[in-house]
Amino acid sequence: MPSVDTPCRLHYTTSVLIDGHIAIDTGGLAYLRTVEEQRQVDHILLTHSHIDHIGGLPIFIDNTYQPTPQCPEIYAGSATWDSLEKHIFNDLIWPNLDRIGGTEAPFYRKHVVDAHRSFTVGKYQVTPIPMEHIVPTLGYLLEDETGSVLFAWDTAPFPEFVKMIDSISNLKAIFLDASFPNKLGWLAEKSQHTTPSQFGRMVEQVPANVRVIAMHLKPGHHDELIEELQQLNLPNLEVACSETLYEI
Ligand SMILES: [Zn+2]
Ligand SMILES: [Zn+2]
Repeated sequence: MPSVDTPCRLHYTTSVLIDGHIAIDTGGLAYLRTVEEQRQVDHILLTHSHIDHIGGLPIFIDNTYQPTPQCPEIYAGSATWDSLEKHIFNDLIWPNLDRIGGTEAPFYRKHVVDAHRSFTVGKYQVTPIPMEHIVPTLGYLLEDETGSVLFAWDTAPFPEFVKMIDSISNLKAIFLDASFPNKLGWLAEKSQHTTPSQFGRMVEQVPANVRVIAMHLKPGHHDELIEELQQLNLPNLEVACSETLYEI
C-alpha cells in the first residue's frame, strides 16, 4: 500500500475504478487497460463537468461501443448533464450520441441524480453529496454491508463533512481533495479546492482507523503537496497513486 513516503505517479486527470466495473469520473478511463477491460465498465458516476473528470468520456464510449441494447449507465447531476449535452455531445466537439444511437443501439443511458437521493449500483448503495466547487459538483458515498467509502473531490472544505464523519456507519476510507499547496491558498479559494492545511483541519476529527487518502494533487505542485501533507503527521494519511489497487 503506498503511503506518503512512496513515490507516486502524478494525478493528471481523475478517475477511480471500483471492482473493475464502476468508474467515478472518466479523466483517464479511455486510456488505461484494454478495450475488453474498458467494456467491463458498465456504470459511471460523474462528479462534475470539468475536463479533468469528463475528458475521457467521449473516447471511452467510442472505444467500447457495440450496437446492441447494452450500454454503460451514466449517473450525473443535472448541471453536469446540461454541460455535457451543450458543450461536448453537441455535434461539434463530439457527435450527439443520443440522436445517433436512439433506443435500439444506445451509446449510454442517462441517469440524473440529486444530492442525498440514494440509488443502487451493483452491490452498493450510492448517495450523492454536495461539494463546494465552482460548478455544481457531487461527491459520492458508497456503502455495502462491509463498510462505507466517501469519494470527495473537487471541493473546498464542505459543510457536511464533519456531520458525515459522525453519521456514516462503518466508514472505512475517505478520498479527499488536496489540490494546491498552502502558499496557493488564494488559488484554492478562487477555484474552490483544498490546501493541505485545510485538509488537516477537516480530517482532525476523523477516527484513526479510517483511511484518509489525498486526491487530486496538482501535478505541478506534487512534491510540495506531499511535503505539506507529511507535515500534518496523520498516521492514517495516504496519497492516492495512479494505477494502484486499493483494497478496502
Ligand atoms: Zn473541478
Ligand atoms: Zn478536477
